[in-house]
Amino acid sequence: MKLFGIAFWITIVTQMVIRAPLNQKRKLEKMSEQKVNGQEKSILGLLFLGGFLLPLLYSTTSWLDFANYRLPAWAGWLGVTLIAGALVVFWRAHADLGLNWSPTLEVREKHELITRGIYRVIRHPMYASQWIVAIAQPLLLQNWLVGFANLIVFVPFYFLRVNSEEKMMQETFGDEYREYMKKTGAVFPKMKPPSS
Ligand code: SAH
Repeated sequence: MKLFGIAFWITIVTQMVIRAPLNQKRKLEKMSEQKVNGQEKSILGLLFLGGFLLPLLYSTTSWLDFANYRLPAWAGWLGVTLIAGALVVFWRAHADLGLNWSPTLEVREKHELITRGIYRVIRHPMYASQWIVAIAQPLLLQNWLVGFANLIVFVPFYFLRVNSEEKMMQETFGDEYREYMKKTGAVFPKMKPPSS
């Protein structure tokens, strides 16, 4: 496996290690709201295909080699820098969100609105880190089918998910969430504080 492929897999495995303890603990949590529909399930399946299964085939077999391309070394290193940054954002987001994290849209009985740490500046740091990984993927896995597979699925996922998640959060936390939205950016920090 090439060096940049190794960097990609180190990131994926580290993400799993960061998530594993939360995944275990949240099984004991009682949920007051769960919004998992067929559309959400299929898109999560496609994300798994583009972000995990196709990269796995690319890295462990030669089946997809016909679609390989080659970029200069600096592009690969740019990819490594990007995913290293993505990992830091991913780690901080999990540390701050704790048990309020869920893979699908859920509100737990003791749900707390987190506005501290990385959530002070952006509302969707986990999705921000997923954006960065999806953008870094074609730099690291240099194959027309595999490189862009994550990005192609992630773009519609992001807009659908953020739309329903923010609706759900407003239904749950009302004005507290609307105020929070005024002060923060979705994935980029707001440049200027709101006037008032
Ligand atoms: N969009 C966030 C969280 C993704 S996990 C991010 O990108 O970091 C999805 C779950 O997180 C949702 O089901 C919702 O219940 C919860 N959530 C999202 N934002 C939250 C916040 N600021 N405080 C508490 N829970 C939040």
